Amino acid sequence: MPALVKALCDTARFAVNGIFTETCIHCRKRVAEEGLLCYACSEKICINAAPPHRGIYPVYSAAEYSGALKSLFAAAKFSERYRALHMLSRYAEKSLGVFAAKDTLFVAMPSRRTFLKRLLSAAVGKDKVFFGAYRMLSMRDSNKILGEAERFRRIQESLMLSGKRLPQAERYVLCDDTLTTGATLNRAAWLLEKERQVPREKIVLWSLLYNQRQHEEVI
Ligand SMILES: [Zn+2]
Repeated sequence: MPALVKALCDTARFAVNGIFTETCIHCRKRVAEEGLLCYACSEKICINAAPPHRGIYPVYSAAEYSGALKSLFAAAKFSERYRALHMLSRYAEKSLGVFAAKDTLFVAMPSRRTFLKRLLSAAVGKDKVFFGAYRMLSMRDSNKILGEAERFRRIQESLMLSGKRLPQAERYVLCDDTLTTGATLNRAAWLLEKERQVPREKIVLWSLLYNQRQHEEVI
């Protein structure tokens, strides 16, 4: 049965290639040498870019959501690729490092996936991150299809404090994986200020990636 033999050979070749070489997850052309990316793609990654700041709280991000970082983010968050998470956590660690010397509490935004939890645990240490401070009333509908005004309204209605007592800190860094309009993080900060009486100057917003396109949600 030559067809079967050929199929078996193809399968074997595919498996061997899969073990010994990997194609860059971004350009899908060159061999991946740096983590899951080829050198050319990984060299283009620009970290420590400042997000546009328009709200009342200071905003920090590790990098812009663009180029190879889009592929890395998707691999880490949706396919749970360990090496992608590892690379992103290095960027997060660098970016969050500026707060490390202070009496800082990193507060994670709620998420259906484990990505943010794993990222922050790897970047600053599990004991420095507070999980479960917030909850979303309904996270069934994707925000993707919503316009900006409707998205803001949804977040106003659905994001709330969980009721867990927050430890005292000199600085609260509210952390999310992506920031587009900033609606989630700004609402979270506002709740902390109004319902927990945390002084405004103690609150900082942080996202791993920020998206320049204001009217398009990342997820
Ligand atoms: Zn590449």
